[in-house]
Amino acid sequence: MNKKHIVILGAGYGGMMTAAKLQKNLHPNEAEITLINKNDYHYQTTWLHENAAGTLHHDRTKIKIKDVIDSNKVKIVLDEVKCIKPEEKAVKLQNGAIHYDTLIIGLGFETATFGIPGIKEHAFTIGNINNARLLREHLDFNFASYHNELEKKNARLNIVIGGGGFTGIEFAGELANRIPQLCEEYDIEKAQVRIIIMEGAATVLPGFDEQLVEYAMNSLESRGVEFINGALLRECKKDSIVYEKDGKLCELPTMTTIWAAGVRANSIVEKSGFETNGGKVEVRCDMRTPDFEDVFVIGDCALIKNQETGRAYPPTAQIAIQQAETVANNVKASIHQEEMDSFTPNLQGTITSLGNNDAIAEVFGRKLFGWKASCMKKMSDNRYLLKLGGLSLLMKKGKFNFFY
Ligand SMILES: Cc1cc2nc3c(=O)[nH]c(=O)nc-3n(C[C@H](O)[C@H](O)[C@H](O)COP(=O)(O)OP(=O)(O)OC[C@H]3O[C@@H](n4cnc5c(N)ncnc54)[C@H](O)[C@@H]3O)c2cc1C
Repeated sequence: MNKKHIVILGAGYGGMMTAAKLQKNLHPNEAEITLINKNDYHYQTTWLHENAAGTLHHDRTKIKIKDVIDSNKVKIVLDEVKCIKPEEKAVKLQNGAIHYDTLIIGLGFETATFGIPGIKEHAFTIGNINNARLLREHLDFNFASYHNELEKKNARLNIVIGGGGFTGIEFAGELANRIPQLCEEYDIEKAQVRIIIMEGAATVLPGFDEQLVEYAMNSLESRGVEFINGALLRECKKDSIVYEKDGKLCELPTMTTIWAAGVRANSIVEKSGFETNGGKVEVRCDMRTPDFEDVFVIGDCALIKNQETGRAYPPTAQIAIQQAETVANNVKASIHQEEMDSFTPNLQGTITSLGNNDAIAEVFGRKLFGWKASCMKKMSDNRYLLKLGGLSLLMKKGKFNFFY
């Protein structure tokens, strides 16, 4: 039997879960599997805001690929994907090239700055371990610097979060819990520190249930978070931001702006010439691209629409993980020349963390607040670890701090 070469790009939620499933579902005689990733670890993007705020060490978020993937069954290549050449069935890497029979693209997301001047140069983002680590160190540096300067700079203690969506709110919740520790460590009055969420829409968490939004805002406000809604960030400078509110331009001193208002699919996909819609590949129901029989796209690089509303599903880890199961089954089906499955998301709800023991959730049609929602979030994270790497991974990386 001629062995097919299956190549998976990216060890994120989608790529990692596909590799884990394929190593179980395919016999090594049936296919050769290669997983290509920039780093030797997979990271849980959904925990990065905790790493960035400094409430959870990034080593907890990193999972060594070899702790989950059996290198006797899946070849792990540590390299950076530069572009894909689907006509040649090849992927160009930083250090060479690789050919495939079947390709799975799971390269995730990147920051979208919408052309706002200075964001790229001066704002922080929470998109990977390196960004999160840098932001944590920067916060520490600013607090440490405050008493070391003759002229005290408020800009060091003003923290602006651009975007009151899911990521911005989750980060604010963690940061609000971290500030008292930083203040104590660096002898700074808590009242001197400002955390400001700047949101373009009339309310934060647009699209969420009103009661849940109100709960989230009250919870964050009680810990000192300020909201400036209906405000558009116009420019990010090294030590201030300029925003527009009610038709007026205002400037606020800050050395820490966190851009949490936009992500897009990895631009490699678009640059490689795939047909895209807003940067994503609008995949067929079996998760293949419309124009190539042998290329699957998964996670944040894929666009799928809700058939009833015609609207695209938001990019989430939940969907990427579910797609991985369908893609792994479909890759196996293609090798066995069987019919492929269609992907239908099974949306269980949304949980937004507000800091360690607080959260809001809409799950299985029910609203949850506070501790219950926070437990639900931790259980959902633990479920993922169990699914990916079994009990040993769960025990090593799981969250069991349900009561504190
Ligand atoms: C702070 C934050 C909180 C979030 N919270 C939630 C949540 O609570 N629930 C939820 O469902 N979703 C959440 N999301 C969204 C979720 O994280 C994404 O939808 C999910 O990570 C997408 O999975 P993916 O497999 O497409 O890509 P990713 O998980 O982003 O993985 C992409 C992988 O590809 C690798 N890669 C990228 N480019 C290259 C390259 N050129 N060469 C080689 N390797 C490369 C990366 O290193 C990474 O390992 C959150 C996102 C953020 C930023």
